[in-house]
Amino acid sequence: MIKKTSILALVIYLFLSMLSPILVQAQSELTILDSSAQAEFPSSLSFNLSAQSDVNITDIRLGYTVDRVSFAQVTSEVYIEFAPATTVDVDWTWDMRKTGGLPPGSGVNYWWTVENANGDKVETAPVQVQFDDNRYSWRSLTEGKVTMYWYEGDESFIQKLMTTAQQALARLAEDTGAYLKKPVKLYIYANAQDLRGAMIYPQEWTGGVAFTRYGTIAIGIASDNLYWGKRAVAHELTHLVIHQMTLNPYGDLPTWLDEGLAMHTEGALGLEYTAYLNKAIAEKSLISVRSLSSPFSAYAGQSILSYVQSYSLVDFLISNYGQAKMLELLNTFKQGNTYDDALDKVYGFDMDGLDTLWQDYVTVSAQPIEGKGMHPALIETLAILATGLLLPLGPATENWAWRRDW
Ligand SMILES: [Zn+2]
Repeated sequence: MIKKTSILALVIYLFLSMLSPILVQAQSELTILDSSAQAEFPSSLSFNLSAQSDVNITDIRLGYTVDRVSFAQVTSEVYIEFAPATTVDVDWTWDMRKTGGLPPGSGVNYWWTVENANGDKVETAPVQVQFDDNRYSWRSLTEGKVTMYWYEGDESFIQKLMTTAQQALARLAEDTGAYLKKPVKLYIYANAQDLRGAMIYPQEWTGGVAFTRYGTIAIGIASDNLYWGKRAVAHELTHLVIHQMTLNPYGDLPTWLDEGLAMHTEGALGLEYTAYLNKAIAEKSLISVRSLSSPFSAYAGQSILSYVQSYSLVDFLISNYGQAKMLELLNTFKQGNTYDDALDKVYGFDMDGLDTLWQDYVTVSAQPIEGKGMHPALIETLAILATGLLLPLGPATENWAWRRDW
């Protein structure tokens, strides 16, 4: 008899312990039967819930937050439309074609709040769903704060890109004192086509994207395009570092500084781009520093010149005023200064002053090249070559609009 009672007690205990983890604060029979989420990368994320109660369930809400850098925690709440019943099975789909997409590997935390006609309420514990690009079988390699994900090519392919990333970080630290404060993720797609498949509204020329608020980069690098790939890794990685270094709720960086640092970390400017700059100097068609502080022109010729001038401006500042001043400039921007004020505080000149000093500098340094006998026709050819190289090789292949939005 004693044995039977204790077995019965054990059965009841087990039964209750099976129920209790999902009943957070219910006073009566209100039970979450099932909760799940399915990612359909990159277009949607679906959430499902089944719940049961002894009286009608009357109110269901889905709450969620996205893991990204922000100055105030943003929680979204969705009121689910359904017919009140004792057993309900509801779902809601986050259609990213309407809201804009998330980068691969984003974390979304979600929870449900369910209420019945008696006013009893259950809130499920937050669960994280990874918005992964499940179209591919990703492998990963981590070194320091950098993790690279890839699915095509052998270990030596990804190791080369990792070495490039580490060298880029070292060069950036040496030139500017900037460093990664938080871990970053790089998704290496096998080609530009695959990368475009990861975006809701891809642009034809998208080669790489830095999602600065997520600490995520996505780039399409074919194994026969490693030269471009290495430069793209250095470039986009720099955007993440600079974003981490200067993040503030008040303002952003002038575009020439952000892009110029990214270009500078890639390494020396190719001859075809130098030719492009020299041509603009000769024709007196340089873009003003003030114009370069706003987003660049989408027009190919102007776009190349914008990137090349940005490189040259940053090179001028680092070569002539050194690492400590560049770090001071980044820290000054972090405090939320205007473009003119930040430059003036650190270097003693504003955007127009920089324009004058830099133009004098490049005009003088451009002359010896022509003096060495580079034929004007060659300069012209190289400049045209740069336009032709823009799509497969150039820095402008990154998707600007995306990066600025996120
Ligand atoms: Zn860039």
